[in-house]
Amino acid sequence: MQDEPIDKKDILEELSKLHELDYNYSDGRILGSMCTEAHPFAKEVYCKFLDTNLGDPGLFKGTKRIENEVIKSIGELLSLDVAYGNIVTGGTEANIMAIRAARNHARKYKGIVDGEIIIPESAHFSFKKAADMLNLKIVEAKLDENYKIDVESLKGVISDKTVAIVAIAGTTELGLIDPIGEISKIAFENNIYFHVDAAFGGFSIPFLKESGYDLPVFDFSLPGVCSITVDPHKMGLAPIPAGGIIFRKEEYLEVMAVDSPYLTVKTQSTIVGTRLGASSAATFAVMKYFGRQGYCRLANEMMGNTNFLYEQLLEIGYEVVCKPELNIVAFNHPNIETDEFAEKLEDLGWKVSVAKCPKSIRIVLMNHIKRDHIKELLEDLKELY
Ligand code: PLP
Repeated sequence: MQDEPIDKKDILEELSKLHELDYNYSDGRILGSMCTEAHPFAKEVYCKFLDTNLGDPGLFKGTKRIENEVIKSIGELLSLDVAYGNIVTGGTEANIMAIRAARNHARKYKGIVDGEIIIPESAHFSFKKAADMLNLKIVEAKLDENYKIDVESLKGVISDKTVAIVAIAGTTELGLIDPIGEISKIAFENNIYFHVDAAFGGFSIPFLKESGYDLPVFDFSLPGVCSITVDPHKMGLAPIPAGGIIFRKEEYLEVMAVDSPYLTVKTQSTIVGTRLGASSAATFAVMKYFGRQGYCRLANEMMGNTNFLYEQLLEIGYEVVCKPELNIVAFNHPNIETDEFAEKLEDLGWKVSVAKCPKSIRIVLMNHIKRDHIKELLEDLKELY
């Protein structure tokens, strides 16, 4: 750090120059992100709550009530009348909390000390972080030919050390929904904690179902489901960072509680201590602002764009990995290797991402990608074919 204070104008100029190196969502060129530009109203509310700290909720009783309201609303969206949980920094933290709850619960009630978690090969890498931090072993369940959990493979890896089973509602790479109903039954019958990672799908599946899309049940209406991750900062249009972890029972928070002596509350169950109230307030605002109707409209628009891209790719002759269930399309050029093809698209200014299973170009049709951007992309794809 320099000795003398610097003028605000100069600081802002320096920051702007660096900010100019960033890509903008509004250019419609970011094709591989599960985040998007937050709604302006949510950003406005976020700024008003910047100084609130939910790590010390006795000082911020109003903001704590806001967080409780948000958890209640997301719980209702997921068919849970009384929900427990927190607004956290994102899907990673939410998944770590779920796995911590499962581990502590199994330790307390079943005496499991060296536990295992069963995750699908398609699981987000946040579970690897969770297992590493919580000293758990990862056991992978295989995928079937449709890239969803193979239920027989899952049954085969359950053991007396299993502390949690994880399934995904909206996989990171392909946006697919695992057979959560079947897995819930297995988890329930075996008395094993079942976590659903709907970080991506949680803010679209309920609205797509409401609009008539034939998608499977993935929520707390299934008795085996113990917790669900849902990220407002993905399909919910809340500002980063906003992840959600919803628990069916309060005891899952209780098994994680540690004493917090100098604070206004006696215990704390979250991983993070000092934590933003702004994320809860902004999520509260954007959920009220859109309502179910607004989110249905958004989800439908994004699926409309997804199906348009999917059909056009097939028409040109690209190899599409699977029919999209949510707003992700993964495809390959028939003759050019995926990484090489991704580079060609990058050279044309498209920020694409490459999926690993199966290796393919993956496009996430978020709110910032409009129909005109897709048409522009298709022109380039026709040229490259
Ligand atoms: N879970 C799923 C299914 C995801 O797709 C992602 C991120 O893309 C995460 C968890 C992690 O979320 P975050 O990056 O917000 O921590």
